[in-house]
Amino acid sequence: MTMPRSTAMRQARADFPFVQRRPGQVYLDSAATSQPPAVVLDAQRTFTETAYAAVHRGSSAATGSATTAFESARARIARFVGAGDDEIVWTENATDAINLLAWSLTDAAHEGGEGAWVLHPGDEIVITEAEHHANLVPWQRLAARTGAILRAVPVDDDGLWTLDAMAGVVSERTRLIAFAHVSNVTGFVAPVEDVVALAARHGALTFLDACQSAPHRPLDLHGLGVDFAAFSAHKMLGPTGIGVLYGRTELLNALPPGRTGGSAITTVTLESAGFLPAPHRFEPGTQPVVQAVGFAAAADYLDDLGLTAVAEREHELAQALVDTVVRVPGVRILGPAPGAERAALVSFVVDGVHPHDVGQFLDDRGVTVRTGHHCAQPLHRRLGVPATTRASAYVYTTDDDIAALGEALAEVRGFFGADR
Ligand code: PMP
Repeated sequence: MTMPRSTAMRQARADFPFVQRRPGQVYLDSAATSQPPAVVLDAQRTFTETAYAAVHRGSSAATGSATTAFESARARIARFVGAGDDEIVWTENATDAINLLAWSLTDAAHEGGEGAWVLHPGDEIVITEAEHHANLVPWQRLAARTGAILRAVPVDDDGLWTLDAMAGVVSERTRLIAFAHVSNVTGFVAPVEDVVALAARHGALTFLDACQSAPHRPLDLHGLGVDFAAFSAHKMLGPTGIGVLYGRTELLNALPPGRTGGSAITTVTLESAGFLPAPHRFEPGTQPVVQAVGFAAAADYLDDLGLTAVAEREHELAQALVDTVVRVPGVRILGPAPGAERAALVSFVVDGVHPHDVGQFLDDRGVTVRTGHHCAQPLHRRLGVPATTRASAYVYTTDDDIAALGEALAEVRGFFGADR
């Protein structure tokens, strides 16, 4: 008899060595990085012990089987996000993926020619005021290198932006719209298909920062119609050291590689080089093969749980987080109003107590959260707070974890004398 999905989700905790070995710790920082299940660690260890070798180099049998594992992992991740195998470029993480794209677009601009991806001085790149620095600073640098202009979609007092606000910023000069699917600060979920339609009306390309969506909800990149996307394995139960740049095949093959070296080439002379088709043209140097194997195991694990079931459970966890935090006197949450759609994370401020003190206090009580600006300084500046405290959940989070957060939070203001 198959187990009902919700039961499978509640029992998932047993699969995670970290939560098993640290029973006193309430880990509510999965939006920063997630804990890998044993199957991911086992897959990496088995591969390392039995099949470890350089990939795509030489003709040995060892290289052949390592390459097969490496390319199967790529196909596995492609299937996980609704992409073609050739559209998945391995990178170090999402930040690296965005930088790689920004450098490729820089080279394309300098080489000139025709194409939606060729930036000219005065062309515009649109981002939102809520972006993570990873989806902001590389575009600032791209603009500086090409003469393009960066425009930001404003957010409201809750840190949210609307399609109307975006439409007010996009113009016939817009060449690229780069935005997060899910905000790592507010948990806001972007209307991706509407943005893609808006971009198409202006002949602009789209880049989706899927760091906070790929781990938590079914993701179909072809279905959404975005041109580029990025995400990191370590936020989706996989290892650190590997991420993905997704690009539509014809775009990846049209772009110069942005970074170069061994392996990614066809013919090299002392003066010039030819490059392989995508994705390998973007992957010079020795590749993160062990991490790729672990990442594929994470995708298998998430698919076994079922991404729809994961999303449903996280919907419950999101509501529980919000209900728990808003109930504490003197605590204010950022982002969507209670009851509105949001990811399973909540950032908040505690009246009269600095977020770092809140974080330290919670940590002393065994509750691990994140404090700071969460790599989103412009958003925090707009909201008039220097920093916030963020609690985020994932498949191993229990209702008890959230209750523990609520109990500890209820004591914070009293401890710091902020309730007097
Ligand atoms: N974008 C968002 C929305 C994120 O939450 C993060 C990680 N905090 C990143 C980009 C960058 O991811 P990484 O550090 O894995 O490159």
